[in-house]
Amino acid sequence: MPSTVDVNPNRTRSHAATVRHDWTTAEIRALHDLPLLELVFRAASVHREFQDAREVQVCKLISIKTGACPEDCSYCSQSSRYETEVEAQPLMEKERVLTLARDAKAAGVSRVCMGAAWRGVKDGAQFERVLEMVKDVTAMGVEVCCTLGLVNETQAKRLEDAGLYAYNHNLDTSEGHYKSVITTRTYQDRLDTLANVRKTNVTVCSGGILGLGEKISDRIELLHTLATLDTHPESVQVNILSKVEGTPLQNQEEVPFDETLRMIATARLVMPASMVRLSAGRVTLSTWQQGLCFLAGANSIFSSETGTMLTSAVPSPDYDADKAMLATLGLTMRPPFKGKEMAVCPDEGAACARMVEE
Ligand code: SAM
Ligand code: SF4
Repeated sequence: MPSTVDVNPNRTRSHAATVRHDWTTAEIRALHDLPLLELVFRAASVHREFQDAREVQVCKLISIKTGACPEDCSYCSQSSRYETEVEAQPLMEKERVLTLARDAKAAGVSRVCMGAAWRGVKDGAQFERVLEMVKDVTAMGVEVCCTLGLVNETQAKRLEDAGLYAYNHNLDTSEGHYKSVITTRTYQDRLDTLANVRKTNVTVCSGGILGLGEKISDRIELLHTLATLDTHPESVQVNILSKVEGTPLQNQEEVPFDETLRMIATARLVMPASMVRLSAGRVTLSTWQQGLCFLAGANSIFSSETGTMLTSAVPSPDYDADKAMLATLGLTMRPPFKGKEMAVCPDEGAACARMVEE
């Protein structure tokens, strides 16, 4: 039996790490708790085997329907239960979304994510409009992702038929901690939606938030849940809580940077073929801290022209700041639709791709 935490950092050519789905929480914890620089070194080594470490994907999130959400997610600026600075807005007109998407593409964005402050999708005129948005933004030649809350199998299929590339649905934290953060739906509801998306060819984006009052063991549980899915999410989001005034979590303690770095590096090690997206809260990190995150396996970010990620209450660096950061770090913007090719090892071709996708 090989050591449970040995991802064999000495091999350089073929994949030292394989894509495993049988991780135990003890194995993940052992990796997570490695001496920090050893952890970063191992994650960086695996990152280079599975990903093009010179590239970072820049994504743009468009809030197509803002605020007035009936759910009680205790971090969220858009829940109707909390008094926040966010003003509710109806579902955007398609033309406005297309303009924003076109501008994002011109700025070098390769993935456009459309987010709606809904509990879930309801069939009807609004969903039909979203399907039209998906179709038309996809036609621009960018990856399109939606985050619309819960979806059933039929709705997932309709999104696939419209050309959707990815569906985001975060588990946010461990199953045990979930009910301290959200009471209006269950963890199983979220897992069911992920399973519904998996019945289509739409790729999955899922992850969590650091700083919700969880223990380290909750973070390990979350990684365990994601890394033992039959197919890993193609994209794994690591958010740092963006503290929103008026929400129950407005006074949470800051997440120490080394904990964010550990989470990213561990996600990279246990899901080596996935994109790891450093998302909300990135604005609090310096260029050098972000550089360490990219070294440890993060390879995707959200950016915008306005310096906001989702709503005005969730800030992010803007395009200019991110272009300057990527230039300083010697990184380039990843082109769209590279995900599937990235699973193919240049040395081993199709056989390797089969291994990665199994
Ligand atoms: N309503 C849909 C849902 O909940 O799936 C989609 C939109 S929701 C805003 C998308 C994700 O953004 C959430 O699952 C959460 O992980 C993240 N998010 C929202 N507010 C955040 C905050 N203040 N800090 C960090 N992450 C946040
Ligand atoms: Fe609504 Fe999504 Fe915010 Fe929860 S995270 S309150 S479901 S918009």
